Amino acid sequence: MNDAATANKPTKLNRPLKPNEAVQLYFDRAADQLELPSEIRRRLIMARRELTVQVPVEMDDGRMETLVGYRVQHNNARGPMKGGLRYHWDVDLDEVRALASLMTWKTAVVNIPYGGAKGGICVDPRKLSRKELERITRKFIDQIHIAIGPDVDIPAPDMGTNAETMSWIRNQWEKYHGFNPACITGKPVEDYGAKGREEATGRGCGILAFKLLKRLGHRPADCRIAIQGFGNVGSHAAKFMHESEFPILAVSDISGGYYNSNGLNIPEMLSYLLKHGSLEGYSEADKISNEELLALDVEMLVPSAVGNVIHEENMRSIKARFIIEGANNPLHPVADDYLYQNGVVILPDILANAGGVTVSYFEWVQNRQYYSWDLNRVRQQLEYILSTAFDEVWQMSLERNVSLRTAAFMIAIKRVNRATELGGS
Ligand code: NAD
Repeated sequence: MNDAATANKPTKLNRPLKPNEAVQLYFDRAADQLELPSEIRRRLIMARRELTVQVPVEMDDGRMETLVGYRVQHNNARGPMKGGLRYHWDVDLDEVRALASLMTWKTAVVNIPYGGAKGGICVDPRKLSRKELERITRKFIDQIHIAIGPDVDIPAPDMGTNAETMSWIRNQWEKYHGFNPACITGKPVEDYGAKGREEATGRGCGILAFKLLKRLGHRPADCRIAIQGFGNVGSHAAKFMHESEFPILAVSDISGGYYNSNGLNIPEMLSYLLKHGSLEGYSEADKISNEELLALDVEMLVPSAVGNVIHEENMRSIKARFIIEGANNPLHPVADDYLYQNGVVILPDILANAGGVTVSYFEWVQNRQYYSWDLNRVRQQLEYILSTAFDEVWQMSLERNVSLRTAAFMIAIKRVNRATELGGS
């Protein structure tokens, strides 16, 4: 069955889909195209190992809190498992499972020698002091250090964690296993981090947006953009796209959206973010809601905050013709089908936001060689890897008449399946 057939039979769901069910659906669609037998599907989709751990921690006021932490190690057929660590109040095992699986397909689609994993702690980091966050991180690593490491599973930042968190993790892991900065990526540059890692995911979204427009014969200056989320991914995507002359009409964060029909002053907003930690209180633009931002009359949307923001209730209001999935799983599958059928070109998360894991790979390589690359080399290699992956996905999509998402999953599944076959049972 090809996507044209799928398009005639849209996904009908009368309930919210759990994140892992959405990934399973995309996987099955690509596996149908590849005519993969069910016993192989089961082996590829099921996680190798799932850890749920207790994280007891003393708060600043002396209270004891017991949090729950997760690490799901999905697949290691192509190399050590790799994936971020998320601190967010919505984190649960199902979400971590979905994100771990996405990491396997993401590392495979950009063809770097890793498998996939993901971790997280169910907590609201905004309500914690820096010292509390450090204690939580160290306690979590006490629980999982035995299951992670440079040749096994290498965590990295995700929502709610940053370079400083990675330094705490490295320090705690090394207490058990000795010096080895390759045990974690996304570290500060002065602590064995890679130049260009912090900007990599957002920059990658920009590079791919550029490639997409070029393929379709459009110019950046004619492509008005709205970006949801102004954290690591959204702010760096905004910076790169602004420098590349895309007009950015709106950006948002958890405090709401900021809009100017003539284009926002992105350098000023980045300075504001640096000074205040969020866009709350920024007054040089019209205030809109996150929901209004998604429905703006723009050519391109870059959802770069949380999952499932475009769904059955708001999909008909989307006017953009291109969507670059900076966040993981920002579209509900029903909305994905609907928009695809209506001609919207969607660059899927497993390709669109793969810039981060790609530069994490460069960081790991540099750590293992005790050698540091300059920023130009990082940027050039990033562009090369993402451009190659984009061209392969585009080609597959044309050859098989499938969406870019199905094409990306097909390439990834083929690579993981081949590595599994070569590894034997
Ligand atoms: P972050 O914590 O740095 O930033 C998140 C941003 O989203 C913030 O601006 C926050 O205010 C905003 N936000 C949070 N909840 C929101 C809501 N309900 N509505 C609107 N905005 C909201 O996180 P990040 O690292 O930028 O990650 C964002 C997304 O990108 C996540 O889905 C993450 O999994 C994905 N991602 C991140 C990386 C990376 O390298 N950081 C790599 C690949 C994918």
